Amino acid sequence: MRLHSNRERPFHLGPLALERLRRTTTPAAATGGVPRDEHIPSEDAVLHVIPEYISLFSRYLAAAPAAAEAPVSPDPTIRANNLKAHAYFLDAALVGCCQIQPDDWTTDDNPAHRYACVFVVEFGREPQPGEPGDRWIRGCNVARTDMRCAELAVVLSGYVRAMGFEAQGHFCAATQLDLGRLAVRSGVARPGETGQLVAPYLRRGFRIGVISTNYVLQTDLPLAQDGSLEPDDPGVQQGVGGTLPASRYELDESRPVHLGRYPMETIKRVDEPTTLIIREEIQRIPKRGDFFTRAGAGDLGEAAKRERFRFAMKHPYALGMQPLIQNMVPLQGTRDKFPPVAAHQDERANAEAIKALGYFLGADFVGVCRAEPWMYYSHDHLDGHPIDAYHDYAVVMLIDQGFETMDGASGDDWISASQSMRAYMRGAEIAGVMAAHCRRLGYSARAHSNAHSEVIHNPAILMAGLAEVSRIGDTLLNPFIGPRSKSVVFTTDFPMEIDKPIDFGMQDFCSQCLKCARECPCNAITFGPKVMFNGYEIWKADVEKCTKYRVTQTKGSACGRCMKMCPWNREDTVQSRELMLRSVHSPASRAAIIRADDEEGNGTRNPVKRWWFDLEMVDGVAVKPKAGTNERDLNLGREQKLAAMQKLALFPPQLQPKGGTTVSQTVPVDRLAGMKLYTEAESPAAARERVGDREGVKPS
Ligand code: SF4
Ligand code: SF4
Repeated sequence: MRLHSNRERPFHLGPLALERLRRTTTPAAATGGVPRDEHIPSEDAVLHVIPEYISLFSRYLAAAPAAAEAPVSPDPTIRANNLKAHAYFLDAALVGCCQIQPDDWTTDDNPAHRYACVFVVEFGREPQPGEPGDRWIRGCNVARTDMRCAELAVVLSGYVRAMGFEAQGHFCAATQLDLGRLAVRSGVARPGETGQLVAPYLRRGFRIGVISTNYVLQTDLPLAQDGSLEPDDPGVQQGVGGTLPASRYELDESRPVHLGRYPMETIKRVDEPTTLIIREEIQRIPKRGDFFTRAGAGDLGEAAKRERFRFAMKHPYALGMQPLIQNMVPLQGTRDKFPPVAAHQDERANAEAIKALGYFLGADFVGVCRAEPWMYYSHDHLDGHPIDAYHDYAVVMLIDQGFETMDGASGDDWISASQSMRAYMRGAEIAGVMAAHCRRLGYSARAHSNAHSEVIHNPAILMAGLAEVSRIGDTLLNPFIGPRSKSVVFTTDFPMEIDKPIDFGMQDFCSQCLKCARECPCNAITFGPKVMFNGYEIWKADVEKCTKYRVTQTKGSACGRCMKMCPWNREDTVQSRELMLRSVHSPASRAAIIRADDEEGNGTRNPVKRWWFDLEMVDGVAVKPKAGTNERDLNLGREQKLAAMQKLALFPPQLQPKGGTTVSQTVPVDRLAGMKLYTEAESPAAARERVGDREGVKPS
């Protein structure tokens, strides 16, 4: 949480006031050692499973560039700022650029790259001895942070190569460069008194990664040896202008790691979700029924079939993430039962340790629920084999897509898919490592990422108490980051205390607010009330319309405009937390909050935060998008007109491909039948009346 807004701070400057530090042309020392772990890891430490991820990532650090150069500005400052912004988007703490000198290479056989983009990733916070997760986490920061540096090195170098320039990623465990020298020369660190590198504003340790390239970049100057690394200026200390305040470390230390940075413990817990779930009426659906799978199988027509496997990777940045997203799938784990384990009997301690581990690895929210059979898909989509529920517990995590980039974007322009892919990639990495860790402890576990999942995430998010149902329908809403997240799940037999669902007033808020429906580019979000859908009470969006738009639209890559426009997609400042609390605790204030959101122009793009290049990959080369870019702000006053022309369809199990259908069989969407079913859908009130208070049903 920031004290001051950063909406006027260009994204490429990063979260810390690097620009306020004194520089020099003559650094006192050329290099220094990179910080190491301070603690000895235990036998149960997570670092034992991280090497397989680091090893996988290391395979994608280098490759040939695209056949032609992208039409990007030749201005080295614009290029450097753009690349720095890409690194900050992946959570680098500090980024700088420098030229590579011959002595920087540690081997004779090296690419003749002349420029380096150097990034620093800070260590995670470790629990104190005796706190939940301490045995798993302490002493693992080098492994955890090198894995993250490897991720950035792969993605950033892949991005530059996709733009047609040579580039190679480097991190401490895989490099031909002296990373310390480059960190000093690019001004992101300098040698401290002990000879070890110290980095401005960072009070924990850190690791370094580098992109070497022939893409010409404006260079930075080294930090002055006698200048402060944390200026004694109250404005900088408090984060005036939107940088991270120095007080963030004390705030962090005041909370155990397993609680995470957002106070979810202050949100009301309830025995059943705030929306009706009639478990006995839920029919499990096959993976083949997922609408992106249907698009790929041709059910939504030729255009959607053609674009299905391209739409999310149309921008060179998202394309840079593809190797990791796809190739982490084989590491996701097993469904097999393991022999019983005598240890780990304390379910509460286990859940707290798991949450601490998730937060340490970078998740924004972690919750636990039972992996109930109705959460699993019924059949696989490739060969049609049945899927039986196999684990007892689901660990559910949300990854924030980032407010700043949402602030600069329309929600369906050229950065949209990269926002989703970053969260999917990070989630797959975190859940994959955690599942591997559980297996090493002796418990069966399997991660479920966007690239391959055998569970439907939304019911798990709901039951684990991370979000409530919202008008967006298939996107749930969290009290602190709104709908701006992607989820990842891992299922396991590791025994844990489960969380309860939450109630923060969203059903009432979304009943009064129509903003996402008004702003959806294809009118897929209902202006009407909730309906019953396959046993769930939900504002059911038209998934055919939404999927078609996301897959085939030509003025951007994918779409998340509903997330962008929601009043709950807010900057995490003291002020916005107060507003959120007012909404939660004072239902009468909700109408005014909704009105004020439009009056204040929230949802209008913030040009200060538009940091990416508009590019489209066509035939393997990044080009200027032929159709242009979706330039959208607010559509005030269009609710009535859009509601009047809205025709929605819903596709319950009887309109889905049957279990056993594979992707080689096309099952055209029956839209007319779906539209008819929407008009006939049962209301939640009628469903409550019908089922009364039978077990498994939430009474009103
Ligand atoms: S088309 Fe875009 S705005 Fe509309 S529901 Fe789908 S993702 Fe949301
Ligand atoms: S935009 Fe409004 S109606 Fe839509 S999810 Fe957000 S709060 Fe609910």
